[in-house]
Amino acid sequence: MKIGIVGAGMVGATAAYAMVMRGVGREIVLVDRDPKLADAQAQDITHATPFAYPLPVRAGDYQALAGASIVVLAAGVGQKPGESRLDLLARNAKVFADILPQVLAVAPDAVLLVASNPVDVMTQIAERISGLPPGRVIGSGTVLDTARFRALLGAHLGISPKSVHAYVLGEHGDSEVLCWSGAFAGNAPIDDFARDVGRPLDTRVRAEIDAGVRRAAYRIIEGKGATYYGIGGGIARIAQCIESDERAVLAVSIVTGQVETTSDVALSLPRVIGRGGVVTDLRPELDDDERAALGRSAAILKEAVESVAMP
Ligand code: ADP
Repeated sequence: MKIGIVGAGMVGATAAYAMVMRGVGREIVLVDRDPKLADAQAQDITHATPFAYPLPVRAGDYQALAGASIVVLAAGVGQKPGESRLDLLARNAKVFADILPQVLAVAPDAVLLVASNPVDVMTQIAERISGLPPGRVIGSGTVLDTARFRALLGAHLGISPKSVHAYVLGEHGDSEVLCWSGAFAGNAPIDDFARDVGRPLDTRVRAEIDAGVRRAAYRIIEGKGATYYGIGGGIARIAQCIESDERAVLAVSIVTGQVETTSDVALSLPRVIGRGGVVTDLRPELDDDERAALGRSAAILKEAVESVAMP
């Protein structure tokens, strides 16, 4: 399976590196408006292949994406000093309007994986520009926030994060919803297990974990300027599910028909991912507070997407 990555900056290149480490795809092609950067990243990642999976990794132009089954969209422009979030969104929408026709001309059957931020709005913009069905335009969404939630819960409870079943839904951002009511350790409700092992999830612990998940990006950016390892790993994992038709359940963002009182908005819910993209959605049981918070998150995202000047 050929995987294309448009935008060979930190996120795009780290996704490629994570794919090489996991053996995802049979060929990886990096495209960037700065061809020297794409070429340098491809060479650097190629030099890691003898230590991992020997996948060909190369830089190319849009023609080189011909026949790609997955194209990751990790291109974007950074916020300029004094620029509003909406102005930034409008500029990134222009970047997608430039990229998408060139991608679709050569890879009309590709699943699009959107990583550019703000990811939910960019996913909805990509869906609009491409005209593809929603299940084929997947934003990385809260796949990373979900991983952070599981990691923190696992550390608190002294169990592997892989045995924590818990999701973060809604926006990848400030209004995201940590679903405590449906969180499990193995098959035990997480609260019961936490009490049993003497590590109760009291108000203080919950607040700490909530901040640890919700504020993670801010803290990382403060320390190192950008986040890319976590999201790179998440993108490689989504690509792996598509490549192997794994049908794993991951929290990812696609345009969703109805979320509480909001219709047609891209946000994250748990979804089954296989060949061709999102196979089906799960509608998890939520308590009243979580349901209200998900509704608020949907409304915030809908307002953002409606206020973007489409290119
Ligand atoms: P991030 O941390 O999100 O990866 P970067 O700035 O490191 O951010 O990477 C974004 C990449 O997107 C840059 O390498 C930039 O050259 C690329 N890019 C921006 N606009 C376009 C475009 N229109 N076409 C292709 N690549 C683009």
